[in-house]
Amino acid sequence: RGKLVITGFGIQLGRHLTRRVESELDKADVVLAMMDDFSLTWLKGKYPALIDLSLLYGKDGEKDRRQTYREMELAILEPLRAGKNVCAIFYGHPGVFADVPHAAIKQAREEGYEAIMEPAISADACLYADLGLDPGMSGLQSYEATQFLVYQRPLDPSALVVLWQIGVVGDLTCTQFHTYSDRVQALVTKLLRWYEPEHEVILYEAAVLPIEGHREERLPLSELPNASFKTITTLVIPPKLEWLADHEALASLGVTEDALL
Ligand code: SAH
Repeated sequence: RGKLVITGFGIQLGRHLTRRVESELDKADVVLAMMDDFSLTWLKGKYPALIDLSLLYGKDGEKDRRQTYREMELAILEPLRAGKNVCAIFYGHPGVFADVPHAAIKQAREEGYEAIMEPAISADACLYADLGLDPGMSGLQSYEATQFLVYQRPLDPSALVVLWQIGVVGDLTCTQFHTYSDRVQALVTKLLRWYEPEHEVILYEAAVLPIEGHREERLPLSELPNASFKTITTLVIPPKLEWLADHEALASLGVTEDALL
């Protein structure tokens, strides 16, 4: 009976691959991968029979990503149902802002297969290191940009904010691989409920190739619609450090605000 392992490639080509992942890949009968072309070519050097899941994406504007995801899930489950040991490897962490890995594992378990997820290095793990921002300093809010935009989600500007998939923000058709400045403007307009137009934000892209550096473009929030975005761009909003003491909670500890200084 087949077993399913879903794991991650990390962000930087080759360098984030763990021993654990390598051993799972070696044990698998079928290896499927979802990552950028450079990484895929590199991994194909080790696993020539590797199945490229990214081929299931349609051209820009043509195919609903939700359809693509269901096809990827099926591509993973089919060999499992045929009795193979399957290893699917996704760039980054397979369980972070990723639909297919969670869905495939859930489905496999429902069908009675052993299915596990192995963690890996995600884009935000790189962000904390590259930008020197510790999520523990201020707390962290992490949202998918479009979800944050179209639903009434609370935002705490006193915490570090990370908005994922800013490069496709506002695409409700789920078919596009780019965004438009009016959609970014819609996001900025919403963010202005909590921030001043001058509040500094950071466009972040972790290095994928070992020869490149990361992108760390700092700009005022209001300038965001004029910036350029890739599908891998993440928007980072440093915290407003104007925290107010919670006098009620302090009183229940038997202290006053002076204890915080
Ligand atoms: N599972 C992935 C994330 C997939 S969602 C992970 O673990 O990182 C895709 C989003 O992740 C992108 O829109 C972007 O916000 C972020 N992302 C992916 N690659 C990135 C990179 N190299 N640098 C910064 N952010 C990245």
